[in-house]
Amino acid sequence: MTGSGLSDIFHSTAFAVARNLALFLVVVFWLGLAYWVYRDARRRLDDAWLVATATAVGLVPFIGPLVYLLFRPPETLADVRARDIEVRALEARLFTAQPRCPVCRSGVQANYLVCPVCTTQLKEPCGTCQAPLEPLWQACPYCATPVGSRLATITADLDSALTAEAKAVKKPPARRKKPQQRRAAAS
Ligand SMILES: [Zn+2]
Ligand SMILES: [Zn+2]
Repeated sequence: MTGSGLSDIFHSTAFAVARNLALFLVVVFWLGLAYWVYRDARRRLDDAWLVATATAVGLVPFIGPLVYLLFRPPETLADVRARDIEVRALEARLFTAQPRCPVCRSGVQANYLVCPVCTTQLKEPCGTCQAPLEPLWQACPYCATPVGSRLATITADLDSALTAEAKAVKKPPARRKKPQQRRAAAS
């Protein structure tokens, strides 16, 4: 009597409905987990093949998502990008805050012409106002002198130096003359 009663229960439509509902929920849960693995992999991996592999692992019922959780990258791509930007900003702030001598690495100020520790020339002075100029600048921002004209001032300086030297070379005969003139004046 009890056996026939149990088989009645197993073959009743109510049990069939409950069993189908349970199966349906299991399938929904399985596919939902696989979809979650796919979405999570897309947020953490930027390679399409790796995302496909992770999704395939996630499709293994219930164990696949667990395995994926063990081996997924710890950071999302957005986290990595944000950290990169932060690090770059920090580096930029550090380098602009404390410029360093390229030779001895001691801290220098942005307006130094020469490193005070190792006397390395850091910047060229403006030919007109002596302000320190960056190597890429095409004109002095303080007095608007084009940087190319520094060459002209240098050649002008060279010219004046050469003429001064030439005068200095010519002077000794003139000096020699003076005593003769004095002697002539004396005699
Ligand atoms: Zn130095
Ligand atoms: Zn200048």
